[in-house]
Amino acid sequence: MIWAAVAIGLVLVVLYLRSRRDPYSLRDLERLQNQLEFESVEEISTDEADEVICPNCFEAYESNRPACPRCGKLK
Ligand SMILES: [Zn+2]
Repeated sequence: MIWAAVAIGLVLVVLYLRSRRDPYSLRDLERLQNQLEFESVEEISTDEADEVICPNCFEAYESNRPACPRCGKLK
């Protein structure tokens, strides 16, 4: 009879630890994934920093800029 109580207690402890730990590991995983995506995006943007010509003022500027530095026209 006492073994049944111990078994139930063990299951409850495992479930409690799992419910406590899982949100953290999920958050860590999410953060790690975001970091990896951020790093890969950064890597791509530095790799592909070639020049584009502004269609408005024909200024040449790096393609990783959001807008033309001369006239401010967005890509
Ligand atoms: Zn321009």
